[in-house]
Amino acid sequence: MLLNLFQIRTGDDKLSRAVRVALLEALFASRASLMVASVLGAALSSVVGWLCPSPWIIACGVLLTLSGILRVLSFGVYRPGSANANARKWELIYQLGALSYAMLLGQLTMLTILISSDLRLHLLTAVLSTGYSAGAAGRNTGRPSIAVGQLLLCSLPLSIALFMRPSMPNVLLAISNILFIIVITDITMLTYKTVLEAFIDRQEKLRLATVYEKLSKTDPLTGIDNRTTLKTNLEELLQRGDKTIAVIWLDLDRFKQINDTLGHAAGDLILHAVASRLAELSGREGKLARFGGDEFIVIIPVANADAGVAIADKIREALNEPVEADGTLIDISASIGLSVSAPGFSADKLLRHADVALYEAKARGRNCVELFDPEMEERLLNSKQIEHDLKRAIANGELELYFQPIINLKTGRVKSFEALLRWHPPINGDVPPSLFIPIAETSHSIGPITDWVLEKACAAAVTWPDEISVAVNISPALLTARRLPPVIYETLLKTGLHPRRLELEITETALVEDNPDTRIVLDGFQKLGISLSLDDFGTGYSSLSYLCRYSFDAIKIDRSFMADVYRSSESRAVIQAISSLATSLELTVVAEGIETLEQLEYICGQGCAAGQGYYFARPMPAAKVHEYLDRADLELEVLKIGLAQQQAKKPRRPQEPERRIA
Ligand code: C2E
Ligand code: MG
Ligand code: MG
Repeated sequence: MLLNLFQIRTGDDKLSRAVRVALLEALFASRASLMVASVLGAALSSVVGWLCPSPWIIACGVLLTLSGILRVLSFGVYRPGSANANARKWELIYQLGALSYAMLLGQLTMLTILISSDLRLHLLTAVLSTGYSAGAAGRNTGRPSIAVGQLLLCSLPLSIALFMRPSMPNVLLAISNILFIIVITDITMLTYKTVLEAFIDRQEKLRLATVYEKLSKTDPLTGIDNRTTLKTNLEELLQRGDKTIAVIWLDLDRFKQINDTLGHAAGDLILHAVASRLAELSGREGKLARFGGDEFIVIIPVANADAGVAIADKIREALNEPVEADGTLIDISASIGLSVSAPGFSADKLLRHADVALYEAKARGRNCVELFDPEMEERLLNSKQIEHDLKRAIANGELELYFQPIINLKTGRVKSFEALLRWHPPINGDVPPSLFIPIAETSHSIGPITDWVLEKACAAAVTWPDEISVAVNISPALLTARRLPPVIYETLLKTGLHPRRLELEITETALVEDNPDTRIVLDGFQKLGISLSLDDFGTGYSSLSYLCRYSFDAIKIDRSFMADVYRSSESRAVIQAISSLATSLELTVVAEGIETLEQLEYICGQGCAAGQGYYFARPMPAAKVHEYLDRADLELEVLKIGLAQQQAKKPRRPQEPERRIA
């Protein structure tokens, strides 16, 4: 038992603070029992002092009464929770009070038995000290050192006094009292163990509940609020209704690509950096949350929509700063959708508006801010409908491939045909590719569509004369997919088209992000002997470095320059610059969008090797290609003679067309 007591004493120091505090709170819990004990102690002292007026007994009685009063007062000062702030102090106060009270009661009992010969007083003090010891042991189970200390200080003097006045009943009573002390000590320790386990269990449950509550409210990676918490906060702000609230919803551009190429550790670093930049920018008034993946939301009170746009712009600029990961600087940017509350708005509505605006921002080319406007919702619905219908377009046989000739301006013969996709949905008429191709790209249906286009284009091309190739547009979204070269290879094998007769048209946007996968895919094409054209040149970043980095065979000057060639000296300058650059790099220049003889003359004057446009022919169904080829030779021969005559005259500035050939 002594060993047990010692273990409890040493184990006590290892108790968590929370458990100690909870046990201490339990000590101060029952004020009533302490009051009763103090009143009884005072009454006992008075009765014993009255019937046996020994100065020792009176002094002991007075001290006992005083100790009782002080204990009651200390309980009065103690407030629930005080132990939390100052556990050691309150434990010491309690301990001093309890032990001194027990000691004085024990001494009073001992003095009464030794000094007085009144058996009634013996009985009274003995019963009270034994009763007090048992009660204190039960009450202080949570601190067994106090309980056992009180038991010994209060009960042991009774046995000592009884042994000092030896008689058969006294010795028997003294021994019984010692046995009583032993039994109560044992019970106290057993109860303590049970109580302690229950406390520890409760504390653990409380701790886990707190951890889970925090987890359910925060994003585990960045530690900021999660979607649920943000929504609750937004609902509260809107219910108060005293401020205009801006919801800034942002999505990191190219985050998946960063994750895939640089690894998840770099991705996590970026998310952390974004969270801390946003926390700084949203200030004390703003609330920030991560909406999963690479999406974050800031809600902030604003004076009006313009103020919201200004904050969103600041955020966009702050996110344009690169993030450092493992010594490399990673460029990041974000697309941002913004919505601003109006009276009666719900959190759901405001969030939906911001989401719609974000969709628009992404579609508009990223790294930009879009403020919600109701028309966006209509556009979004429309594109969602297109996205939905497009998924079944191939299976429903709604797609058709048209072909538009590209003419070799030196020989006047058809060089190739560009395959251009047409979609005939069963209702609402044809949808132009400029509308559905971007939707197919974002909704991931561009892969199967391109497979279909490739197969149809190659199958058509094998039926054409050997020297005519087919050009297929490849969406930038597919250039990082390494599956494309094998798909093309299989299509060539299946259709029997020689790779030399296949050209792939790639827009500049695909090359802006210098992705290693793009390089692998493009190299794969060239290894197969397929030629590559840089499509719509001049519209995007038009970096000359693309031409050096990737070995293209041709550049297609975007048709917008051709349309402007009469009005804009800049357009003419661009055409001239591209033509001379391409000549020095030994690339074929194809001029797109030739609609008039004048444009054709101008383009020939610039030394362009090939041309495409309505002037020669509009895109036509596959079935019309043979018929076209039959007449084209003759038509183009006439054209060639005409051109040669024109060229004989000195080169001139283009003038407004006298005749447009539709
Ligand atoms: P693009 O590759 O630049 O194709 C040339 C576009 O210019 C075609 O538009 C063609 O009809 C049009 N065009 C040709 N000559 C003239 C002309 O003289 N005047 C005018 N105003 N336009 C002319 P289309 O067929 O509407 O295609 C638009 C774009 O859609 C294409 O531009 C291409 O980027 C994309 N596209 C079309 N089919 C496919 C496809 O199968 N896959 C992919 N990824 N994109 C495609
Ligand atoms: Mg093209
Ligand atoms: Mg083009």
